[in-house]
Amino acid sequence: MMKPFRTLGLSGETLKGVLSAGYTSPTPIQTAAIPPALAGRDLIGCAQTGTGKTASFVLPMLQRLTEVPGAKKRRTIRALVVAPTRELALQVETAIQTYGAHTRLRSVAIYGGVGIPPQIKKLRQGVDIVVATPGRLLDLMDRGNVDLSGVEILVLDEADRMFDMGFINDIRKIVARTPKGRQTLLFSATMPKAIQELTRSIQRDPEFIEIGERRNPADTVIQHVCRVSTNTKMDILCHMLHNESTDNVLIFSRTKHRADRIARTLGRKGFTATVMHSNRSQNQRQRALEGFRNGTFQILVATDVAARGIDVDGISHVINYDTPRHAEDYIHRIGRTGRAESSGEAITFVTRDEEQYLRAIERHTGQRLSNKTYNGFDADPVETRTQRAGKHRHSSAHPNNNGSASSGRSRRGDSRRRRSR
Ligand code: AMP
Repeated sequence: MMKPFRTLGLSGETLKGVLSAGYTSPTPIQTAAIPPALAGRDLIGCAQTGTGKTASFVLPMLQRLTEVPGAKKRRTIRALVVAPTRELALQVETAIQTYGAHTRLRSVAIYGGVGIPPQIKKLRQGVDIVVATPGRLLDLMDRGNVDLSGVEILVLDEADRMFDMGFINDIRKIVARTPKGRQTLLFSATMPKAIQELTRSIQRDPEFIEIGERRNPADTVIQHVCRVSTNTKMDILCHMLHNESTDNVLIFSRTKHRADRIARTLGRKGFTATVMHSNRSQNQRQRALEGFRNGTFQILVATDVAARGIDVDGISHVINYDTPRHAEDYIHRIGRTGRAESSGEAITFVTRDEEQYLRAIERHTGQRLSNKTYNGFDADPVETRTQRAGKHRHSSAHPNNNGSASSGRSRRGDSRRRRSR
């Protein structure tokens, strides 16, 4: 039985904040992490994304900061969250704003790729909580704009990804500037050796919390593969988008160039699609994410790096337009759907050349992925590639071939109705 938030020890403004966010029962990681975090323990949270891990550190952090008011008259930075990407930093800060709506705590998100003066201004005005990516934070520390000597709670989010992105030395430098007596919470989807070493050097007697099978994708995601050939991918994709009950669809592409091309082609075929990859400016990325979140775009096409930290509720489908080269990326990609308590579907396109990557994914997850076939596209790709190409030309004319333009929004509405039946 899921315990309600109150019995985990949450109270006052923080409890009010989480309830007004609409959550009535905690997720397993929240049930496991909140009580020890409230008690001031160091934690290692080993959990997939989409499990509710953000609230599992934000809620106890807010409560501890409000229970014991800051010692100094002037606001000082009392909590610091370090995250690998700008998107994740913004999402964590949004969660702090949402859950902390009834507190007087002030927070700021600090990340690169945008002007530094507004961030300095906010810091000068005084904040209690900073959420930051490592590079920009170090920059501001070097300029003397950030003082970490009053940090009581330090959170390292997605530590394994920070390691992958080469931030480990930056993290060490940042941690060295915080007081030794702080509470340190570390979250990581996987526990490579480097992260284990890091925890040993920066944490004291941490409580280890592991939610779910570390190597298996969230149970809430239905996974399929779809055997295709390179030149039928787009047609199958369009066929799927027309015939499946899709809400928000996230499509992964291996390269930026291909991501742009997929989004353009889908646009021409009458879908509302936007794109997100590292060649796009921070503003473009934010606009794409916001448009995807609010339904202006039904489809977001992304590359792996840019997609880290995409936290959008209601992604019904993740489509791997290319088979991921690394099993870790596969797990990460499909974790964008089936978040928290909703379910989702992940479909991976596999060409003959990509079978080797599929085998690696199946070995890694210990699970065989079942084949999904589509009418008209359903035979073995080897024997009917030519036939299928013919059929495909026929069907590709179709998105709006009944003459009625269908927008992303109406499609969303339709599919929601279909789903709720
Ligand atoms: P996270 O793992 O932190 O990225 O969270 C995944 C999603 O779960 C987010 O969209 C949250 O809004 C949502 N969520 C967090 N806590 C709960 C909860 N207790 N009940 C339902 N949904 C939640």
